[in-house]
Amino acid sequence: MEKLIIIKYGELSTKKDNIGYFLNTLKNNIEKTLSNFNYEISLDIGRMFINVEENDLEKVLKELQNVFGIHEIIIGFKDSNFDISAIKENTLNILKNKEFKTFKINTKRSNKKYPLKSMEINNIIGSYILKNLKDIKVDVLNPEVLMEVEIRQHEVLYYLEKIPGLGGYPVGTLGKGLLMLSGGIDSPVAGFLAIKRGIKLEAIYFESPPHTSIEAKNKVLALAKILAKYNATIKVHIVNFTNIQEAILKNIPNDYLITIMRRMMYRISERIAHKNKCLILVNGESIGQVASQTLTSINCINEVVKMPVIRPVACFDKLEIINYAKKINSYETSILPYEDCCTIFVPKHPVINPKVEKAIEYEKLIDYEALITEATKNALIINISANENNSKFEDIL
Ligand code: ATP
Ligand code: MG
Repeated sequence: MEKLIIIKYGELSTKKDNIGYFLNTLKNNIEKTLSNFNYEISLDIGRMFINVEENDLEKVLKELQNVFGIHEIIIGFKDSNFDISAIKENTLNILKNKEFKTFKINTKRSNKKYPLKSMEINNIIGSYILKNLKDIKVDVLNPEVLMEVEIRQHEVLYYLEKIPGLGGYPVGTLGKGLLMLSGGIDSPVAGFLAIKRGIKLEAIYFESPPHTSIEAKNKVLALAKILAKYNATIKVHIVNFTNIQEAILKNIPNDYLITIMRRMMYRISERIAHKNKCLILVNGESIGQVASQTLTSINCINEVVKMPVIRPVACFDKLEIINYAKKINSYETSILPYEDCCTIFVPKHPVINPKVEKAIEYEKLIDYEALITEATKNALIINISANENNSKFEDIL
């Protein structure tokens, strides 16, 4: 019997024709994640197997818990002996090292040619265990120990311990998206949820120096780094928004400042997305959260772009978003008190129901086309990887 990690795919198994593409991408992503370890990986249509050195097991399990496309991570054993006496013996060898009072054997037989049915195998193994271990009994409803046995085409698998994986699709299988990443709580969570659906993300951040600080930018890069843990690396586009923001402040009536500012952000984001072959924009807007996120506001802002805008947290309450942020460890960074360009010039009474015609009329007061082209052209690119230490990006800035 050989000890190894077994990966179950979950939702991926429903991909019929292009399952090979999904599984190969998952394998590549796992290989990238485990690049610092010695391991062997193999796969078939139902399971992936990873052999690692015993000393690395805990660390590798931790890494695998950050990989999308994995439904369950199992620490198990594999053997190619299908003989029922070998199966009985292997099960006993695994169970005799455990302390328990009640147990259950659960056999799955994907190899339908195997001469014994699952229930028969359960009974044979169960009786053998009862005969050989003292003071234990079977409990089918609520066993302390659930021993699973899988009779497959080329091997028999045995396992007790299962760790839930992140689920979702392997990153990259659904193409690329551009995440509008602010320093707030919502957008990193939106990014995480988009990555979960297999989208490879790049990020865009608008800064307005000197009105926004280096610390605010570092905070955004720190958030990108947290997302990079799931995405392997993140290319962050930093857009200098100062000239546009100052033009808006000087020329646009107060109540439309935010509406116009956000229309400009959307326009630039779409251009950078096109340039980088991103198929969608992703942001952290949540319906009703602030004046710029009412349904009329979303309409008025969204109409400047053709590209689909995905808003993964649109229907979440703030508390739900916060819970997610805590789970993915972005919360503590997000609540650091540095001002973002959206918050520095917030008017007292932003319009709640902006009109598209009015927005267009006001925009004629600034030469925004030239400003947008310049900001897009001069965007700074930083590649963030989860493994590099923080000082790297601080050096670049
Ligand atoms: P968050 O929504 O992330 O908590 P926030 O509340 O400061 O940050 P909002 O004003 O709610 O941001 O903006 C809604 C969304 O617009 C953000 O979630 C983000 O996707 C995008 N956004 C806002 N400001 C910026 C920025 N400076 N750079 C990039 N995207 C931004
Ligand atoms: Mg928000």
